[in-house]
Amino acid sequence: MPVSVPPSLPVPLAGAGQGVNTTCPYCGVGCGIIATGTARGGVRIEGDAAHPANLGRLCSKGLALAETIGHEQRLLHPEINGVRVAWDEALGAVANGFNTVIREHGPDALAFYVSGQLLTEDYYVANKLMKGFIGRANIDTNSRLCMASAVAGHKRAFGSDSVGPCYEDLEQAEAIVLIGSNLAWCHPVLFRRIEQARKQNGARLLVIDPRRTASCHGAEAHLPLRPGTDALLYNGLLVYLAEQGCVDTDYIEAHTQGYAAALATARERAATVEAVAAGCDLDPGAVRGFYRLFAETEKVISLFSMGVNQSSSGVDKVNSIINAHLATGRIGQPGRGAFSITGQPNAMGGREVGGLASTLAAHMDFSAAEKERVQRFWRSPAMAPGPGVKAVDLFRALHAGRIKALWVMGANPAVSLPDADFARAALAHCELLVVSDCTAATDTARQADILLPALAWGEKSGTVTNSERCVSRQRAFLKAPGEARADWWMISAVARRMGHGDAFAYARAADIFREHARLSGFENHGRRAFDISALQALDNAQYEALAPVQWPINAAHPEGAKRLFGDGRFYTADQRARLIPVQPRAPRSAADGRYPLLLNTGRVRDHWHTLTRTGRSARLSRHTPEPFAALHPRTAARFGVNANDLVEIESAWGRALLRARLTPAQREGEVFAPLHWNDQFSAKARINAVVNPHVDPYSGQPEYKQTPARIRVAPMQWHGFLLCRRECELGALGYWSKMRERHNWRYEFAHENAAAGAGLRKQIQREHGGESLEYIDEWSGSARYLWFAGGVLQAALFTAGDYRQLPGRDWLCAQFGEPGFGAEQRARLLAGAPGPNGADPGPTVCACFDVGRQTVLDFIRHTPAADIDRIGQSLKAGTHCGSCRPELAGLLSEAAGRRD
Ligand code: SF4
Repeated sequence: MPVSVPPSLPVPLAGAGQGVNTTCPYCGVGCGIIATGTARGGVRIEGDAAHPANLGRLCSKGLALAETIGHEQRLLHPEINGVRVAWDEALGAVANGFNTVIREHGPDALAFYVSGQLLTEDYYVANKLMKGFIGRANIDTNSRLCMASAVAGHKRAFGSDSVGPCYEDLEQAEAIVLIGSNLAWCHPVLFRRIEQARKQNGARLLVIDPRRTASCHGAEAHLPLRPGTDALLYNGLLVYLAEQGCVDTDYIEAHTQGYAAALATARERAATVEAVAAGCDLDPGAVRGFYRLFAETEKVISLFSMGVNQSSSGVDKVNSIINAHLATGRIGQPGRGAFSITGQPNAMGGREVGGLASTLAAHMDFSAAEKERVQRFWRSPAMAPGPGVKAVDLFRALHAGRIKALWVMGANPAVSLPDADFARAALAHCELLVVSDCTAATDTARQADILLPALAWGEKSGTVTNSERCVSRQRAFLKAPGEARADWWMISAVARRMGHGDAFAYARAADIFREHARLSGFENHGRRAFDISALQALDNAQYEALAPVQWPINAAHPEGAKRLFGDGRFYTADQRARLIPVQPRAPRSAADGRYPLLLNTGRVRDHWHTLTRTGRSARLSRHTPEPFAALHPRTAARFGVNANDLVEIESAWGRALLRARLTPAQREGEVFAPLHWNDQFSAKARINAVVNPHVDPYSGQPEYKQTPARIRVAPMQWHGFLLCRRECELGALGYWSKMRERHNWRYEFAHENAAAGAGLRKQIQREHGGESLEYIDEWSGSARYLWFAGGVLQAALFTAGDYRQLPGRDWLCAQFGEPGFGAEQRARLLAGAPGPNGADPGPTVCACFDVGRQTVLDFIRHTPAADIDRIGQSLKAGTHCGSCRPELAGLLSEAAGRRD
């Protein structure tokens, strides 16, 4: 499939110096941003001090956004089977194709797979078309993979998918329990807010996570529990609270149901601290310490994220956490509550409109009354009779041929779904695959029959909702390139061509928002938490100027509401919350003799999803240059793995090739791998090909955190790296990964034998050739080649029989910014070492000031009483966004030879 060639650089809409207030497109914190065009045609990004989510702060990813907005690999025109066509032809082909499928196979044969990257207006129109006009609910979102368990848990407990607390509660809490959340890396601005509040109020921080993550630095305690035992731990808490007389019987009596049954069920396996500790593989003293902390602290927040949600018993885990807060009445008041943090920037907006196959719209489900109400509102000809297929089942239906046509909007399921090879095969089975995206270079877009060019962040205009229910405007500050169009525009255009013109006659995003706001209040009467009806009459100018505001936004709360449930009333029929009896369940598939390890997957600090955006930034890429598998040193020894070996991780579903990292931060018997790498950035590091596709029975959320796997050292006899100014194709090698450096591309590679070496050298000579220099050591089997043009370094190829013979890459990469080299400097280049007066900085720790790991370690070594403040004063690291401060704390501990 050809990729459209970028014709131009991004063009700011506003004049130089004029800032546009918008929101970050990455995580669920939803930070406010001011994007300002510069006199040189670039864009300056800074935090919006007036936005309540971040109050001016941004993390390393947010601050690097200006580096990711180029038009490189942009999809600029519609394409059918790789041929550029006009919009009219493309939209007609989509509409005719969908109508044909419906006519021949029925509406069940059509599905949409959408994304938490869509704006609320896009989501609303896609949901309306599928559920109200195609007449089925086969629309699901990649948010299914991130927070569907929280949605189902909230509905069971509160009668509504409503996140009660707000970010200020994290600053007002006296104790914060992070469970299944590496907040320091995945939601860094919230972690910074907590860090800074703790300096003032001394709040205690406790981390519950199988891994010792960056979030543990500065925490009072870390409970490295056995994966999957979160519900047992919180059941034990419920029992402890009851036995210590710490439950709030008045609150239970007045505002809840189900306490006795939940407690009785909890007692079955969590009767004593010792029983819990044994089940969770924790020290009983640590468990008791956690329980005492919770019992003694009035203002306590349990903050949870993917580590809880991504499980075959994720919903039960969520409810076990909520149970403890309901039993103590620690909910709905400042500094108290169970707080689900979403992964994506608009996962919450998707929940509001019904972007999940299991909900209808505006927090309504598929009861007869709700279907009738929504049908009347939409004047729809064919309502979905019930829930549709959830993400994993959707791809099974596609593979089985029950779904014939699929529209993927802003998502990359070929990489992100569990059992990703199966997902890829399912896409290949699809008779009509439509992909709307801003790039044609995703693994999914490469399989598309019809490609529709979508707007990228910076060009879009609409709303998003963050994890604390705050609706914010995302505003365009860049001119749309080529023929790229808004998602809502193309969905509406397809709907009109399918024969549903009147219902999709939107002229602008504001029209959709007003309808969405009207539906939220339609026959609501206070029965649905999601109500933004006070915004339904905004005119276009007011919509443009809309300031961030937290729902509900209605007659009772015209200015919005910070937190929910303060009055003890919930959205069940009797307005009482439900404590749910939770029977802890082990993961669907456990480690066994064949697959003796448990694979856990997650994010790294400076990358996002499948690298389509952060992979464009050199300073973000330099934090984690290569995909890796993290193992405890004793686990590594058990399987004969040494640091930096290439290892194959294999499960019953697939395999991946990764660089081994040894760290005591891992539990023994477990392995962690980042989720980001795809076929565009590596040969075989797509870890979701290994992940099991088991799902939670209530939420349909997959169990990304627990896949039985085995490991072996890959038999590579030849290793190397290539640094070059232009991108190369290294397709034939057994392993490769690539990343962007400031002046060049960096490739790591390996092969079963050295036979590929001659071909690779010739290829680089051909592509980068000119004056060359080489050093070959026959005895050790290593070879080094340099190419220059006009005295400027063009490419460096270093190979060796043993990976450990290769020099560091960071100093060499920096030399691509040098104007020329004398004889002595060329000798140093061949040596791959800077000489006595230089230093190899190592991988980036501080992305803001480009400070490397080795630089920090050297400073610590030579500075008595080094601490984070002294590092900041001398190296500036950690003094801007602060995302690296937990890692600096880790390096200080590492240097001190202790674990803090
Ligand atoms: Fe963006 Fe970072 Fe804020 Fe998340 S914490 S919204 S990634 S700036």
